[in-house]
Amino acid sequence: MGNETLLIDTAVDSYIKNTSLRENEVLISCREETSNLEQSRMQLSPEQGQLLSFLVELIKAKKSIEIGTFTGYSALCVALALPEDGCLVACDISERWTSIAQRYWIEAGVQKKIDLRIGSALETLDKLITIEGESTYDFALIDADKENYEQYYERLLILVRPGGLITIDNVLWSGKVADPQNQEGTTVAIRSLNEKILRDNRVTLTMLPVGDGMTVVMKK
Ligand code: CA
Repeated sequence: MGNETLLIDTAVDSYIKNTSLRENEVLISCREETSNLEQSRMQLSPEQGQLLSFLVELIKAKKSIEIGTFTGYSALCVALALPEDGCLVACDISERWTSIAQRYWIEAGVQKKIDLRIGSALETLDKLITIEGESTYDFALIDADKENYEQYYERLLILVRPGGLITIDNVLWSGKVADPQNQEGTTVAIRSLNEKILRDNRVTLTMLPVGDGMTVVMKK
């Protein structure tokens, strides 16, 4: 699932894109270059990107973190919405993909707001918890290896402040989560986190059928 919203037909999907997106030139170039890659399905849809920008503006976020940067589209959406003194810690394991990302961050003039950390995101999160402490971040995105989603979620719940948001991508996993017969590891991991969040009294939540499904939780 890449640029289309699950279960929405092509005409409606085009209508949404044509009447709601305000992508700038750099975002369009980043998305178009990424769509030519074999792994293009890993990229957020532009509607999801705009949702991230909107949420960052809505809560006046200054400090943000993302797990899974890929070619930098989500980071661009967040960084463009952050104030001049805002900061985004961008975690990924790939030098190759993030070298594409950095080109676009420079082109958009937001590279000074982005602190790229290559390596295990769990280790980066543990370091941030030790160095910066609890409730020091406003906004977070989880969009990386699904088996570790729950561990990212738990660490981000420590790092994010009350009233701060954690957004989680691919929560519908092309609809596979709704098929009880599907017991693939990734499906089970996402389904399990979805069910956990529903019962999690530490947060309020909304699950949106945008892109491949995105849950937004607010820490109480
Ligand atoms: Ca994703």
